[in-house]
Amino acid sequence: MCGIIGYTGVKNAQDILIEGLRKLEYRGYDSAGVSIQHDGVIDTVKSSGRIDALVEKLGDGIPGVTGVGHTRWATHGAPNDTNAHPHISNNGRFAIVHNGIIENYESLRAELTADGVCFKSDTDSEVVACLLELYYDGDFKSAVYKAVGRLEGSFALGIVCADHPGRLFAVKNMSPLIIGVGEGENYFASDVTAFIGHTKDVIRLSDGQAAEITAESVTVYDADGNETEPERSVVTWDIEAAEKGGFEHFMLKEIMEQPRALEATIKPRVKKGRLAPEGLEELDISKVSRIVIVACGSAYHAGVVGKYVIERLCRIPTTAELASEFRYSDPILDESVLVIAISQSGETADTLAAMREAKGKGARVMSIVNVVGSSVANLSDNVLYTWAGPEIAVATTKGYTTQVAMLYIFAVWAAGKLGRISSEREGELTKCILALPERVQHAIDLNMHVESLAKKYHTYKTPFFIGRNFDYASCLEASLKLKEISYIHSEAYAAGELKHGTIALLSPDELVIAYCCHEALYDKMMSNVKEVKARGARVLAVAQEGNKRVLAEADDVIYVADTDPLFMALTQIVPMQLFAYYAAKENGCDIDKPKNLAKSVTVE
Ligand code: GLU
Repeated sequence: MCGIIGYTGVKNAQDILIEGLRKLEYRGYDSAGVSIQHDGVIDTVKSSGRIDALVEKLGDGIPGVTGVGHTRWATHGAPNDTNAHPHISNNGRFAIVHNGIIENYESLRAELTADGVCFKSDTDSEVVACLLELYYDGDFKSAVYKAVGRLEGSFALGIVCADHPGRLFAVKNMSPLIIGVGEGENYFASDVTAFIGHTKDVIRLSDGQAAEITAESVTVYDADGNETEPERSVVTWDIEAAEKGGFEHFMLKEIMEQPRALEATIKPRVKKGRLAPEGLEELDISKVSRIVIVACGSAYHAGVVGKYVIERLCRIPTTAELASEFRYSDPILDESVLVIAISQSGETADTLAAMREAKGKGARVMSIVNVVGSSVANLSDNVLYTWAGPEIAVATTKGYTTQVAMLYIFAVWAAGKLGRISSEREGELTKCILALPERVQHAIDLNMHVESLAKKYHTYKTPFFIGRNFDYASCLEASLKLKEISYIHSEAYAAGELKHGTIALLSPDELVIAYCCHEALYDKMMSNVKEVKARGARVLAVAQEGNKRVLAEADDVIYVADTDPLFMALTQIVPMQLFAYYAAKENGCDIDKPKNLAKSVTVE
């Protein structure tokens, strides 16, 4: 997930692009670049690192009033100068910036290479510049439509051609893109933040649409290239709100982004209805005798979900271990053990230490990580990137759910490879995984209901979360979320464990949040809820949509959209992310930057 921007007008393009890129840096910040058209050529400068590194490299700067810029969050190819955008066609006449993933880039690249095209980067994006050159016969628009017609996947593209001074094309398909309409100048960007200092008049492109932009005009075309009436509106946010896309906090924005983030994790891994996660080609799963998941914090909770799913589907003994403990436990490992390290940032010191311990003992190490080229990725034998996009809020939300989704993908893929599930079941589960973004959207739609419950319950001092099996894993994560941002102390308990001691703490002043989503364990769970009620405590239940029986026991219920029981842990966490968020808001907490915490824990 990166940020793109384009400008054409009368001002110095470089200044406008750099200013806009600084606003978009939250979307990605591993490298950046600009291409500016002047005097019949395109000049490009790009650099790994932050925008400041690019500014330094630009030196005296590039003249010109038309250009495109990019701040990258690498998905394909390491974050370095060459892989930074813009990407240029072989003849230097086209420059493109891209946000998204071109899913069929490998076959396009092979085809173009066979035609003598030379690729400089490892990115998926470079094929777009090369296709434009291939299809160009002097007609800019026609080349754009022919090239885009070959692309599969998600893309917001900005395109400049040396032969067409002052003209830009912007194309949208499943990645954000918005056009800013100015006076004698026009803009496009991933986010309105990039140009809101110049204009609040915007055109929101729909998927499949393209815009031809000059200083004086914006022409919008539909997917077939026919001119269409643009949808114009005026932005009412101030600049600060806009940086968060209109949300009050990055955390809420990231909660809301989860369907899109999950789609980025899942979609590229499904080819022809089958799971085909790249990065596992050299992993012979039949030689794996045991799996050990190592991680910290929320990533560890994702690991607990993973343990249940992997064991159930693959029948491979699996444990989830706290990375900070693992290395001191003299773990029993050998080459038949697969260690799965999970980390959003890929820089978590405890996880890195656990990985080194595992490698030292001969185990194979696979990682699930969000940041491309991070230390965890570099240390791994196999890497599965979650592609969730940058997460700014300290408390993880989309980072966590995409890790869980990646574990589902791994588990179903491995079970299929091992023949532990039938091909039919594999197909069914793959369909369920593909539907998860939409299921999560249902959970997000509970926003207002959850907000009212948070208002009702945020004064309870020590909520207990109880659940069994997958539900217990959700309790661990829900309780941590509440603690870290609202500073409300809470406990996560395996529901059956409550009666072995902790029940002594229950009274009419306590709140118990009961996860009751695990259908097979529902009756057992209800016995625990009754025990709680008998002590007078309030019960807020989280249950599967359609479960009417729970209404008889609980004071309030949050219903979560149904999916295969194996995958409920993903959808059912979302309301509790929202609950923690609204409880923190009620308590006046600094939600995006909770006290004493940091986003990436790089110390042991
Ligand atoms: N897939 C492109 C790359 O890796 C764009 C990345 C993005 O959208 O963040 O360079």
